Amino acid sequence: MSVTRRQFIQIGGAALGGGAIASGLASRWWGLDRNRVEDPGTDGDRVVASYCELCFWGCGVLAHVKDGRVTKITGNPDHPLSRGMLCPRGAGATGLLYDPDRLKKPLIRRQKRGEDVFEEVSWDAALNRVGEGLLEVKRKYGPESVALFSHGSGGTWWKQFMKAWGSPNIGAPSYAQCRGPREAGYLLTYGTPLGSPEPIDIANARVITLIGSHLGENMHNTQVQELAEAVGKGAQLVVVDPRYSVAAGKARYWLPIKPGTDIALLLAWMNVMLEEKRYDAEYLEKYAAGLDDLKAHVADKTPEWAYPITGIRPELIRETARFIAAARPASLIHPGRHTTWYGDDTQRARAMAILAALLGSWGRRGGYVAHNKMGLPPFPGVKPPPHGAKGVADKPKTGGYPIAGEVIASGLCDASVPGHALYDLKAWLVYGCNVMQALPNRKQTTEAIQHLDFIATIDVLPAEICGWSDVVLPECSYLEREDDIAAPAYKRPFLALRQEVVPPLYDSKPGWWMAKELAGKVGLAEYFPWKDAREYVDARLRAGGHDVAKVRETGVVLGKQVATCEEEGLPIQLETESKKIELRSEELAKLGFDPIPQYYPQEEGPPGHFRLLMGRTPTHTFGRTVNNRLLAEPYPENEVWVNAEVARSLPGFDQPLQNGERVFLVNQDGARSGPVKAKVTERIRGDCVFLVHGWGQKAKKLGYAYGRGGSDTELVTRYKVDPIMGGTGMNVNFVRIEPAGRSA
Ligand code: SF4
Repeated sequence: MSVTRRQFIQIGGAALGGGAIASGLASRWWGLDRNRVEDPGTDGDRVVASYCELCFWGCGVLAHVKDGRVTKITGNPDHPLSRGMLCPRGAGATGLLYDPDRLKKPLIRRQKRGEDVFEEVSWDAALNRVGEGLLEVKRKYGPESVALFSHGSGGTWWKQFMKAWGSPNIGAPSYAQCRGPREAGYLLTYGTPLGSPEPIDIANARVITLIGSHLGENMHNTQVQELAEAVGKGAQLVVVDPRYSVAAGKARYWLPIKPGTDIALLLAWMNVMLEEKRYDAEYLEKYAAGLDDLKAHVADKTPEWAYPITGIRPELIRETARFIAAARPASLIHPGRHTTWYGDDTQRARAMAILAALLGSWGRRGGYVAHNKMGLPPFPGVKPPPHGAKGVADKPKTGGYPIAGEVIASGLCDASVPGHALYDLKAWLVYGCNVMQALPNRKQTTEAIQHLDFIATIDVLPAEICGWSDVVLPECSYLEREDDIAAPAYKRPFLALRQEVVPPLYDSKPGWWMAKELAGKVGLAEYFPWKDAREYVDARLRAGGHDVAKVRETGVVLGKQVATCEEEGLPIQLETESKKIELRSEELAKLGFDPIPQYYPQEEGPPGHFRLLMGRTPTHTFGRTVNNRLLAEPYPENEVWVNAEVARSLPGFDQPLQNGERVFLVNQDGARSGPVKAKVTERIRGDCVFLVHGWGQKAKKLGYAYGRGGSDTELVTRYKVDPIMGGTGMNVNFVRIEPAGRSA
């Protein structure tokens, strides 16, 4: 059954305004504040295929161009991730392209870091300054003392630069601040991390359990389309969330769990499935190790045990356990994405992975399926970069993060603070990620930056980190540049092309050009032996035997459809040392951690405080899109969700808190947000509040977003480090609510 656009938008939270952008761009000019962003929404004379970068997902787009301007962006029907449709953010990419606040010229700092006073300079002057800054650090401390923070597909060029430079210190907040615990949990259980896009078969699942995932607000296009398709075929949802999310609104069961107690619920579900023999015994016999240990471990973790912990009634725990088990193996426990909550997150991910094993869903249709990559030869004759010394992830601050699969971005920050046990970093390159908001503990980030010998930032917009940099290099948006070929592992392997749709605006440049020029200035030209990115990409395509002209027309190369699950003839393969699903992890036992997940209570907040939870809205990718005038139309600023009952009797309020009234949030350490609107609602528990991440921008040059909404980053003054992989659990902060005046 195909998914209609309407179904997609319904699932994607049209009630929150998400659908308005996707469907309503046509024939409009958006006039907002001091500038207008043109969005005719009409067909162009020319259509260029590329792939989107309004988030990392990488959907295929068709960009229409008329009279030199991009007039409309639609989904590429040939691209497996977009399947002809885009999410609201992707459709609103011209809001980034024509953002009046874009960085327009290279900048060199002329006042103290953080004062945001710069001089516009030529590219030659800017790159000379970056080259000198880096070489000086290299001379004094060695190449490993430079770190790269990177996010997005354009980071490829900078990673190549850093590897050639000789530093392994390349980190992305998307690991230790987001998906890392999940990767570690599944690695320990099945022997392989999940990666992106997650290898799950939503479309064929009969029951989909979302535990802390607000898919539909978290708008990963293909997954939302598949969710709509599954629901269209009769799939049922079980949603575990303290908040009545968009997905909860479509669910057969909503379990409004007390935040921080998910492991208890997962253990109780296992208890019911094992006690009532609702698990896949044959599958576990064949593929798993440690079943007896698991049975003994959860024998006393009954629904009655879990009830006072989670707040979920025992009969509802039993009923949902039976419901989830009845659909096995096509019963999908969605692994989630932003998984850094409480510092015990690898163990929670392990519990989810073990539950999936009881359902026999790993390697099966409607569960976890195999993804494959399409290979492509490297550029002919390119010199492989030297290997640097070990990165700071290998010498962590508190006894080791033994299962960390990638460099810990917050560890790079730690390693830049004098006096810290890891201290050895002296310079940063920051590509496409505003570390002021992406890293926890902004105070420490600021301190680290103040001690650096040199910092340069490459970005499209004047994000806050630019104001703290010595040099700012303005990159053009994805619609104005070529990048490396995308070749992610997927159900059907594919290659996708990023192509320049229109020439770079202002004096911005593509990342490949900057990295290549800079390499030339610091003696690394041999690692960038191609004329430009187009020559680089075309040579790789030709070496792979592809028809370059055809690929440039369609934007995509589809690989062979291969078997992805047991039902299609693919045997179940496990990459753990035991070659079994490790229900009990011997590796964790050896390292001194619980071999089977255990529930430990989380600390409660001070009286009168509410746990601060963070998440997404369908029209935004955190701080990356908050200045986009098109995407601001349906969602101009974030609000703090406050339970309606709680709102009636908040201390310090002489009358009930009203919907739309502005409040301040003040955390347990006295940190304050700016004034933020309250969304008074029955759709959230009374012991927590919720904010969409990315708002409350402090960068004054973001003409639209500056000062709008509330910043959760300001309120995250504490975090709990996951001792297994180094993730930073940030849901450990509590806020009280103060009135900020009665005018909304
Ligand atoms: Fe672009 Fe949306 Fe796809 Fe992300 S999910 S790549 S923003 S269309």
